[in-house]
Amino acid sequence: MNPFQYTRVSTPKAAITAYTQDNGTYFLAGGTNLIDLMKREVVIPERLVDINKLPLSTIEKTANGLRIGAMAKNSAVAEHDLVKKHFPLLSMALNAGASAQLRNMATVGGNMMQRTRCAYFYDPSMPCNKRSPVQAGPDKGQPNGPSGCGAIGGVNRMHAIFGGSSACIAVHPSDMCIALAALDATVNVSGPKGDRQIRFSEFHRLPGDKPQQDNTLQPGELIMSVDLPTNDFSDHSYYLKVRDRASYAFALVSVGVAVQMKRNTIQDVRLAMGGVAHKPWRLTAAESFLKSKPATEDTFKQAATLAMKDAKGYGENDFKLTLAPNSIIEALKSATKTA
Ligand SMILES: Cc1cc2nc3c(=O)[nH]c(=O)nc-3n(C[C@H](O)[C@H](O)[C@H](O)COP(=O)(O)OP(=O)(O)OC[C@H]3O[C@@H](n4cnc5c(N)ncnc54)[C@H](O)[C@@H]3O)c2cc1C
Ligand code: SF4
Repeated sequence: MNPFQYTRVSTPKAAITAYTQDNGTYFLAGGTNLIDLMKREVVIPERLVDINKLPLSTIEKTANGLRIGAMAKNSAVAEHDLVKKHFPLLSMALNAGASAQLRNMATVGGNMMQRTRCAYFYDPSMPCNKRSPVQAGPDKGQPNGPSGCGAIGGVNRMHAIFGGSSACIAVHPSDMCIALAALDATVNVSGPKGDRQIRFSEFHRLPGDKPQQDNTLQPGELIMSVDLPTNDFSDHSYYLKVRDRASYAFALVSVGVAVQMKRNTIQDVRLAMGGVAHKPWRLTAAESFLKSKPATEDTFKQAATLAMKDAKGYGENDFKLTLAPNSIIEALKSATKTA
């Protein structure tokens, strides 16, 4: 590991000020992804700003729903009574992630900011546009190893079937974020230019020609909290995660479903997928189709066909073209059964 400066801060203001003092600064939360990346020299920070002392771990009711602090641990959120009662999809998604030990360290903000698990990204001897942008520069990332995309035409079993580009086909790895996307969360951030809110659907981005940018956070912006609006989905939620091992494995494909039902008819529905795109992938066409329809297997099959319209395989990951629609159908069946 390379030498770096370390600063521990106790207020958000101090964190933001410390960030802007030099280039190559990273906030350090649970460290479960960042320290790994530093050990492999994928990320080489000049300074770590330790934000573990910030008072940002509360989970509280608001007038419109629930606010979850960015430093709340994944395990604390998953097991919180209000989350289990009103947002069971979030609890299920969090508990499907990583291992108990990791969930005790990982924070909400860190989980949102974790990097892709593409193996080429983690190996600086291999070509990767995300790790080593073609046009490197102050806000475009540091060059670190060869540019290019090893996964296109290479080992791409885990990779995207939606929204990829000729520069990158990596997937976003978080389970928690699939639930936050389906539940229409809002992200509260604070930065050198003040405070702002980002809709969750606009927080992560597709790779385009800038795969080095995973999200729309500006340099120095700190995630403060996530807001969840009240909803009527708590009786009919399900998170389906398909993976190589029953635990401690990232999703090949995952589906977050939240449904509002009246008898056997779907009143409202939210569907988001993981393991299929550079960001949590909302299935809006399938959602519109399902509204006011009966909750039957035939309806679910039609919705899954609609959802797959723009899917594209890259060789090793072609199996996802079948796995994804089957997973959508299974997740919808499970969610509409759980009254
Ligand atoms: C073996 C293993 C298996 C895993 N399996 C899964 C899995 O199945 N599903 C899953 O979802 N995840 C999985 N993870 C990933 C894990 O969930 C993430 O590493 C974790 O959520 C990151 O949170 P952290 O607090 O440790 O972040 P850190 O590692 O401290 O930080 C990660 C990034 O977030 C930035 N950051 C942190 N907090 C903030 C903030 N408030 N504002 C702005 N930037 C911030 C940091 O600067 C850094 O760039 C796994 C990890 C490991 C090591
Ligand atoms: S898919 Fe993206 S992260 Fe993976 S090698 Fe290609 S550019 Fe890098």
